[in-house]
Amino acid sequence: MTLAAWKFATKLIQFNASPKDPYHPKTTPIYQTATFEQEAADALGEYDYSRSGNPTRKVLEDQMAALEGGTRAFCFNSGMAAITATMRLLSAGDEIVSDYDLYGGTSRLFAQVLNRAGIVVKYVDATDTAAIEAAITPATKMVYIESPTNPFLRVVDIAAVAAVAKKHGALFAIDGSVMSPYLQNPLELGADIVIHSATKFLCGHSDVTAGAIVVKDAELGKRVYFQQNAEGTALGPFDSYLFLRGLKTLKIRIDAAQRSTEKIAAFLASHPKVGEVFYPGLASHQDHDVHQRQARGGGALLSFTVGSAEAAKKMAEGLELFSISLSFGSVQSSISIPLKMSHSSVPAGMKGVRIPPADLLRLAVGIEDTDDLIADLSRCLDLI
Ligand SMILES: *Cc1c(COP(=O)(O)O)cnc(C)c1O
Repeated sequence: MTLAAWKFATKLIQFNASPKDPYHPKTTPIYQTATFEQEAADALGEYDYSRSGNPTRKVLEDQMAALEGGTRAFCFNSGMAAITATMRLLSAGDEIVSDYDLYGGTSRLFAQVLNRAGIVVKYVDATDTAAIEAAITPATKMVYIESPTNPFLRVVDIAAVAAVAKKHGALFAIDGSVMSPYLQNPLELGADIVIHSATKFLCGHSDVTAGAIVVKDAELGKRVYFQQNAEGTALGPFDSYLFLRGLKTLKIRIDAAQRSTEKIAAFLASHPKVGEVFYPGLASHQDHDVHQRQARGGGALLSFTVGSAEAAKKMAEGLELFSISLSFGSVQSSISIPLKMSHSSVPAGMKGVRIPPADLLRLAVGIEDTDDLIADLSRCLDLI
């Protein structure tokens, strides 16, 4: 059987963990070195300096490319570093068309960093492909979205947006952190660039911050590599090792968390104290059909409303098994109030348009026992 024919679970485990290593270790060695001795003074070998390339990171990058169906991947010291490297593909005067529901850190980058670089971002409702097309001008060089979005879990039709971006000669970049390559492969749907905050599902244990970019086109790969090396934002050897280690259990972690999330979504949707539940795995979700077409599950993130800011605070603080923390994709469950936490950095000018409501809670479901998680939620809902 060839690599291409293997199913995802097999690919996660069966890869060359130690190319060219004389001892054939079954896990990837941590090449914790900044520099590499060269055999000749007038020609560099495969590795010379770890900012430019490191064998531990190379195994990880090759594995990420294989899992996402790309030709080349690049790993960074955070998701934001990966997003920033993507933005470096643009120049002053270029425009981006994006969605108004973005990760808070990305909003901040767009509004307070890209503006100083002379790059203009236009926000539309990206679930409406026609709205994206209407916002495109000759200066538009990139369409940038997340799907599902965060925290409302709205779903963008990736193939449709890819077609529009292509028609207008714009790069199409998508942040796929909420799904991971296990549940969704945007390159196969026509995207040019997939970005992951590997801090989330890919590393999976809340112990590393890391990011990744995966591309299909070789020329684009060269441009991203140049950026990664020029700005020195690549992931270090030890974090690359932790990333590789976390990745092996991606499928079983997401399977377990997603099973619980589906049950929790159904429980919350039928609870009298809960207003709306946002989860793309629910048949009642506004974008359920689009999501079904382009992804292989609803994931392990959901949000819901509880009527007031006071109730949201009481709920978040009363839970035992959901710690109050930023982030998602960890083995441990957590809860956050997006307005106060992940989205507190949404710039003031955008508040009102993109601000999550004060009673919105976001759950990041881990791999604890489903019944325990539901019992904890049930107990707290009775108290609010
Ligand atoms: C967390 C997150 C990021 C930023 O990643 P870091 O690793 O925290 O820098 C970007 N996009 C999404 C969707 C995220 O959830």
